[in-house]
Formats: sequence, structure tokens, C-alpha cells
Amino acid sequence: MAEQVATNITWHDGTVTRHERAACLQQTGATVWFTGLSASGKSTIAVAVEQVLIQRGHAAYRLDGDNIRMGLNKNLGFSAEDRTENIRRIGEVSKLFADAGVLCLSSFISPYAADRDAARALHDEAGIPFIECYVEVDLAIAEERDPKGLYKKARAGEIKGFTGIDDPYEAPANAELVINTGTMSLEASVAAVLACLEGRDLLT
Ligand code: ADP
Repeated sequence: MAEQVATNITWHDGTVTRHERAACLQQTGATVWFTGLSASGKSTIAVAVEQVLIQRGHAAYRLDGDNIRMGLNKNLGFSAEDRTENIRRIGEVSKLFADAGVLCLSSFISPYAADRDAARALHDEAGIPFIECYVEVDLAIAEERDPKGLYKKARAGEIKGFTGIDDPYEAPANAELVINTGTMSLEASVAAVLACLEGRDLLT
């Protein structure tokens, strides 16, 4: 985990409470954290959920693995160390969005349980809802979909350290939501996410 490097810094509190912010925005922020193998359907589901939330008048925003790697995390690769730093930063950014009152939809393979747990802990410490959504799929189905041709490359040895092939994916043990996209339609998956948010009074 990253160490605090800077010294002589002091947290500067604001005067607006989260409650006041929620009243202003008429919603409570939260993070929905989609985790799963590449091609499991994380981004597809998050895109559809974001569309529905916005149509219903909720502030929602997606953070997506490849997109973030083109900006904030462009200096990170796929070593275990870089994957951990990637998720650490995204955990922090998700928390900021959720703290701001937004329904933050974070789609990241996030293969290591410890990294996801660290993102959860950040939210827990701040009292911000964190919903881990395990987008489950058999590797064979993900490989068959292969929308970006990455599994093919990984099997051919052209990509090293690919999750599910030669890098581990540690499935969540206690996810708030499990969606199996091998058996559930996209519509059913979106409905399950919305029901989960509704069940936590996050869509009132
Ligand atoms: P990830 O973000 O997990 O890497 P993507 O959403 O980019 O995955 O890709 C998933 C692929 O699987 C897409 O091409 C999508 O159309 C397809 N797919 C097939 N069935 C489903 C489903 N039930 N839910 C989500 N995606 C599905």
C-alpha cells in the first residue's frame, strides 16, 4: 500500500456536510465496483446502467479501465505492482466521486482481492456506500466473446500476464451482487444493479 510521502501537510475541512450535499443533489453518492474477467461484461453493463440512471435524473459517472489507463494511469502497466497502484488510484477517485454525491460506476478487472478490499476500506472509513458487483463468467465464454482479441493474443503468447490466462483472477467471496453474464441477459443484469441500488435507498 502506498506510503504517505509528503510531510507538513494538514487536512483542511470544509463546512459543507455530506448530508447538505446530498440534500442539494437530491441523492446520496455511492460506488458500484464492477470486477471480473476481461470480456465478462463489466463495461457493457456499466454503460447501460449509467444510461438508465441519467435518464431517471440521477447523477452517475463511469470510470472505465482502459479509459483511465489513457489518462490518469497512463504511466502504469500490468505488473502486479502497477495493477495494485492502478486500483489504489481508482479507489481514491471513486471515493471522491461518491463523496461528491455521484453514483460512480467503476469497471475494472481488479483481479486481486486485497486491492479491491483496500478500495472498499477507503469507502467504509468515510461512511460511503461501496457495492462490489462480481461480473462472473466462465473463462471459456469470455474467451469466445473476446471483443478486443486480447485472449487470442494472450494464448499466442503476444500478451504476458493476462488475467485468467497467465495471471490470476481472485473471485470475490462476499460481493454485494453477483451477475453471471453467461446466463443473464444484459437487461436482467442492469435490472439487478438497479434493484441493488434501490434496496439500499440510493435511488430515492
Ligand atoms: P469487460 O468490460 O468486462 O472487459 P466488455 O463489456 O468490454 O467486458 O465486453 C463484454 C462483451 O460481451 C461485449 O461484446 C458484450 O456485447 C458481450 N456480452 C454478451 N452477453 C452479455 C451480457 N449478458 N452482459 C454483458 N455483456 C455481454
